Amino acid sequence: MKPASFDYHRPQTIEAALDLLARYGEAAKPIAGGQSLGPMLNMRLARPEHLVDLNDLVELDYVRETDTELEIGALTRHHRVANAVEVGRSHPLLASAASTIGHYPIRQRGTLGGSLVHADPAAQLPLIAVLGNAKIIVRGQSGTREIEAGDFFKSVMTVDLRYGEMVIAVRFPKLLPGTGWAFDMFSRRRGDFAIVAVAATLRLGDEGHQPVIEMALGGVDAVPLRLDLGDWFENRDITAAGWTREAAAHVAATISPEDNKMVPADFRREIADMLCENVLTAAIARARGETP
Ligand SMILES: Cc1cc2nc3c(=O)[nH]c(=O)nc-3n(C[C@H](O)[C@H](O)[C@H](O)COP(=O)(O)OP(=O)(O)OC[C@H]3O[C@@H](n4cnc5c(N)ncnc54)[C@H](O)[C@@H]3O)c2cc1C
Repeated sequence: MKPASFDYHRPQTIEAALDLLARYGEAAKPIAGGQSLGPMLNMRLARPEHLVDLNDLVELDYVRETDTELEIGALTRHHRVANAVEVGRSHPLLASAASTIGHYPIRQRGTLGGSLVHADPAAQLPLIAVLGNAKIIVRGQSGTREIEAGDFFKSVMTVDLRYGEMVIAVRFPKLLPGTGWAFDMFSRRRGDFAIVAVAATLRLGDEGHQPVIEMALGGVDAVPLRLDLGDWFENRDITAAGWTREAAAHVAATISPEDNKMVPADFRREIADMLCENVLTAAIARARGETP
C-alpha cells in the first residue's frame, strides 16, 4: 500500500519545526529515520495531514559528555550511538544494545528520538533509558520539559509527549567506574525485534556491603519493566555458586507477560529466565574485571 496524501514540510531550524508542529497540532507528525513511521504510513496505520521532516536539524545529531552524563541528540542515528567513542567509554551497555538494533541499514537511518517516541515495548533504547534513569528532554513552543524515562513510557507505543512537542535529546547518567553490565535478547531471526530483552548493571559492594544490582526487561510488559530486586538480593551471597540461576528463576516468576497464540506467556517467561541468568553472569564477570 502507499501512504494517504500529506503535505510535506522540511524545516531548517528547531524553531521552525516547533512552529509547524504547534500550527498543525494533532494533524502533524515528525519523521526522523522513517524506519517505524515509514511502514506505518504505507500501511495507513498513521495518516498525518502534515509530515514534518526533522532530517535537516543537524544540530540534533550529537554526542556530548559531562563529568556525570552522556547527552545524545534526538536525531543521532543508532549506528553512531553504537560506535561513538564517548558512548563506548562511558556507557558501554548503551553502545552494546544499540549495536543489536535491526540490521545495518536500519541503524544507519533510525534515530534515538524516533525509537523512544515509537516506544515498542521490546526495543533496546527505551529499555536502556529506563534501566539507567535517563532523562528525556522534550521541547515545545511553551518551553522545555525534562522527563524521567520511567515516566515517559506510558503504554505500548504511547509516551508522555503533547501535540506540538518534540524530543530534543536524552541524558544518560554515565556508568560508574567498576560497574559490570550486560545486555542480551532473544528474537526469532537475527535483526528482528526481540521477543524478550534483558539488561542489567551491577556494582560489587565493598566488604560488608551489599552489591547494587539493577535490571530491566523488555517485551514482558507494555513498557520496559525495571525491577526492584533489592529485597531479594539483601543478605544473599552473590559469590555463592548458583545465585544467578536462583535470581533468574525469581525474576521469571515475578513477571506477568502477555499470553497470546504467537508467543505464549510461558515461553516468554522461559526466555526471560534464560536471558536473566546470562546477563547476571556476564555483568558480574565485568564487575570483577573479567571478560564474560
Ligand atoms: C526491519 C526492521 C527491524 C527493526 N528492528 C528493530 C529492533 O530490533 N530494535 C529496535 O529498537 N528497533 C527496530 N526497528 C525500528 C528502528 O529502530 C526505528 O529506527 C525506530 O523504531 C524509530 O526511529 P526512526 O528515527 O526511524 O523514527 P521514525 O520512524 O521517523 O518515527 C517514529 C515515531 O517517532 C516520532 N518521532 C521521530 N523523531 C521524533 C522526535 N525527535 N520528536 C518527537 N517525535 C519523533 C514519529 O512521529 C513517529 O511517531 C526496526 C525497524 C525495521 C524496519
